[in-house]
Amino acid sequence: MLDSDSIRRLALEVGFDDAGCAAARRLDSDARFMDEWVDAGLAGEMSYLERNRDLRYDIRLLVPEAKTVVVCLLSYAKSGRDYHRAVKSKLYELKQRMADAYGSDIFHPEKQHIFCDSAPVLERRWAVEAGLGFIGRNHQFIHPILGSLVHPGELVLQVSVAGARSAEPVSSPADITSPAYPGCGDCHRCIESCPRQALGQSEWDARRCIAYDTHKCIICQQNCPYNEKLF
Ligand code: SF4
Ligand code: SF4
Repeated sequence: MLDSDSIRRLALEVGFDDAGCAAARRLDSDARFMDEWVDAGLAGEMSYLERNRDLRYDIRLLVPEAKTVVVCLLSYAKSGRDYHRAVKSKLYELKQRMADAYGSDIFHPEKQHIFCDSAPVLERRWAVEAGLGFIGRNHQFIHPILGSLVHPGELVLQVSVAGARSAEPVSSPADITSPAYPGCGDCHRCIESCPRQALGQSEWDARRCIAYDTHKCIICQQNCPYNEKLF
């Protein structure tokens, strides 16, 4: 049986900064949170979030019979201008190495199973599922060492993997202060530094966020202690 440590080693060999595995399942608590957030109108103009909700919440509807989601992280520093290309080319390289080691039937023969910002996949949530970090009060995925300036990419497998995370971790914004999970603790720097008051204790209001319109604001990430060494 494949194991998550071996897959992580191959992912590091092809140049990813970290990787982990999660058992494929429906993300029930995320579905509830997203439904409430979208239905409250906080997603602003992101009408695509209205569509494909079922696919977004259950990756097994996107890749039939999926058993495992391998999540790989590439830091902004390594990904260059075209991060889709950088992440995807490494995912294809990882796929080749895994096919050489374990056989190509671990991948779906027809359906797309490599993703990077290209399909209704809750990528940051899968990164949490795979045990790679948590969602901070800035509503970004945060890796405890790499910080939040990382791009996730996913490779979906048709087989189970030993060591893949399967329990639902504490990951919803409402739970981010849980002492059981590394997280924000008493820090509120992102909320305090946001020039638009777009961040609340448990909500991000996309209608107020500058990055949502222009992609040109990372103030909340610049002020995050997990990113201290990056700025
Ligand atoms: S990206 Fe800018 S505007 Fe948006 S939440 Fe962060 S600090 Fe606020
Ligand atoms: S700035 Fe503080 S509160 Fe905000 S995401 Fe980072 S650690 Fe969490």
